[in-house]
Amino acid sequence: MQVKQSSKLSGVSYEIRGPVAEHAARLEAEGHHVVKLNTGNPLPFGFEAPAELLQDIVRTLPASSGYSASKGLLSARRAVVQYYQTLGVDDVDVEEVFLGNGVSELIMMALTALLENGDEVLVPAPDFPLWTAATTLNGGRPVHYVCDESADWFPDVDDIAAKVTDRTRAIVIINPNNPTGAVYPPEVLREILEIARRHNLVVFSDEIYDKIHYDELTHTATAALAPDLLCLTFSGLSKAYRAAGFRSGWLVVSGPTHHAENYLEGLTMLAGLRLCANVPAQQAIQAALGGHQSINDLVLPGGRLREQRDRAWEALNAIPGVSCVKPKGAIYAFPRIDLDMYPIHDDEQFVLDLLLQEKLHIVQGTGFNWHRPDHFRIVTLPHADDLEAIIERIGRFLATYRQ
Ligand code: PLP
Repeated sequence: MQVKQSSKLSGVSYEIRGPVAEHAARLEAEGHHVVKLNTGNPLPFGFEAPAELLQDIVRTLPASSGYSASKGLLSARRAVVQYYQTLGVDDVDVEEVFLGNGVSELIMMALTALLENGDEVLVPAPDFPLWTAATTLNGGRPVHYVCDESADWFPDVDDIAAKVTDRTRAIVIINPNNPTGAVYPPEVLREILEIARRHNLVVFSDEIYDKIHYDELTHTATAALAPDLLCLTFSGLSKAYRAAGFRSGWLVVSGPTHHAENYLEGLTMLAGLRLCANVPAQQAIQAALGGHQSINDLVLPGGRLREQRDRAWEALNAIPGVSCVKPKGAIYAFPRIDLDMYPIHDDEQFVLDLLLQEKLHIVQGTGFNWHRPDHFRIVTLPHADDLEAIIERIGRFLATYRQ
């Protein structure tokens, strides 16, 4: 008798680590070198976590072998509160900060605690697909609102407004955005928040790339613009602090939390259910958030991440029939392929064929809940020269599809 997976898993997927990743692992086991451009994992490309963060983990390791409080170490949660004060979110209580094993775990907890079966969550398309998957897994219905490629990938506010129903409970904002690299100015955020205000929606603001923005743009914390709305802000150590493997993130609840006591009790209970987050990584949060922010050296003019973003963008646009909106933040590019020139019907097959032939692993656009097979996502983490050579190889491979 076959043991079958639960029906709860139907419609749930995570293509960034999906079937194509299994082919990549098989190729590696056979001795091939695969360039992994599918996950935003800074370390393999030479981006090491800041020394003071590592030193703090090592220094506190002997004292980190016990459980912590379920919400997390007080010193770390205080550092998170202080960080949000600098961003203009000043009504945060340390009891309304939850530390987790990465933002991923906290996304799951926040949705588990909120959703009844059939509740709708407005999620961007394209999205970081965990938001869609976690909504479905928790009995909710992800309703995708469109981000407009012709408008710098900003959310289409009319589309958001048109998709609100009496079942809509929450809206997800990802800023800076994965996969598009869009950075939303305050005006755009205010328009979205106005819809949330009108319909009493909970706001989930995923700001894990809050310190990775180029072109002198600054980060606007959504919660700073909406002290009157229940807002859950997510961030962590994986990207700006290049410490993805430590699995460390935080969730900050702000706004009229006195109207959400029951929800907060639910979150607290779920935090206890997974006992606590990885304690050595919690120790690093205070060191990370205080003092010199080495990420700035990487994103400012002359910085490695910024140069890579520039060169990737130029190289992608140099491929005939490929166009890419310039990413303003994060560590990805999400180019469009002209399907009249390259008739691709199944973009998963396209990325699988690229993997098998070129040993390059990118992710198909439909893996980000994009509705047409005409995009892909590539991480901009390799050194600029490598990135340029990789993109030229993608261009040559694409040419074999040409009508
Ligand atoms: N949110 C976004 C937008 C991401 O891109 C990622 C990881 O790529 C995550 C959350 C998850 O991050 P973590 O490593 O903290 O679980």
